[in-house]
Amino acid sequence: MTNTGAFQILSFDMVRIPEMEEEVVDSITARCRRCGHVTTVNDGAVHHLSGGLVMQCGQCSNRQALSNARLAPAHTDLRSV
Ligand SMILES: [Zn+2]
Repeated sequence: MTNTGAFQILSFDMVRIPEMEEEVVDSITARCRRCGHVTTVNDGAVHHLSGGLVMQCGQCSNRQALSNARLAPAHTDLRSV
């Protein structure tokens, strides 16, 4: 699984937004590498940035900006398994 440094990405889903012709993260589950807490962010709770999102641990203050470009290859890996 993808290790982003601050988080280990366990799973995520991307959705295509027709108006934007862009894929965005719809939900993401990641384990905090600082405290080990598993956080799931979904629906409107995803903090989108242009071209990515901010993942934040639900237990500690650990957070990291993740780019879609970084996630996309991992998504391909998940699909192919
Ligand atoms: Zn944490």
